Amino acid sequence: MSKIIVALDYNSKDTALSMAKQLKNYVQWVKVGLELFTYEGPKVIHELKNLGFNVMLDLKLFDIPNTVARAVKAALSLNVDIITLHILGGEDMCKAAVKEAQNANSNCLLFGITLLTSSTSKDWPHIQSTQDFILNLAANAHNWGLNGVVSSGQDTKKIKNNYKKLACLTPGIRMPDSQKNDQKRTVSPKEAQELGSDFLVIGRPITHHEKPIQALENIITMLS
Ligand code: C5P
Repeated sequence: MSKIIVALDYNSKDTALSMAKQLKNYVQWVKVGLELFTYEGPKVIHELKNLGFNVMLDLKLFDIPNTVARAVKAALSLNVDIITLHILGGEDMCKAAVKEAQNANSNCLLFGITLLTSSTSKDWPHIQSTQDFILNLAANAHNWGLNGVVSSGQDTKKIKNNYKKLACLTPGIRMPDSQKNDQKRTVSPKEAQELGSDFLVIGRPITHHEKPIQALENIITMLS
């Protein structure tokens, strides 16, 4: 079964931890992203780790190689389990991140962002085929030593067929009857799993649901 990562996109540690405690019997993974980390910093990571969660730190690093390497080193010191960075940052940047993880002898997985699931081919009129572009980014992730890629479920099958070693992590998960919000290239949890996604990152369909645990239970039932 694909692993579910619940995105704790909140502006306070207390709200995030209160949701995390409710999720504890259902999922092993949670995600801390830009909003929560900017408000609360490393402390929220420590507390989630103390609760026994695996933590994806989704800061989507994108900077010069030295800066990214140092940020990866800092993230590894928090004992997180997944770190994200943009493949578009280039070979030297990605390899600098991989080297940091190797130096730290860490089991933390590095996931490269391809194109955001909130963007579509309309955002990239100069690119003939966004699907081919995404596949090229996945090739780079593979060749530069990243453990996996973040991409739409719609791209997973092609990526898996070409780069078996790459783990695929899929955001933009929506139930057929739920709101898309800012996401555009969406798939349902079941579709994502059938297309080969290893991890499903799900935020608002759970956290904004009036009954979050019931929403999560429904998703788990669909996947089992
Ligand atoms: O609420 P929703 O299910 O759309 O949340 C998706 C989560 O996945 C958000 O926290 C977002 O930052 C993250 N994400 C994404 N697209 C990516 C990488 C991460 O939506 N390419």
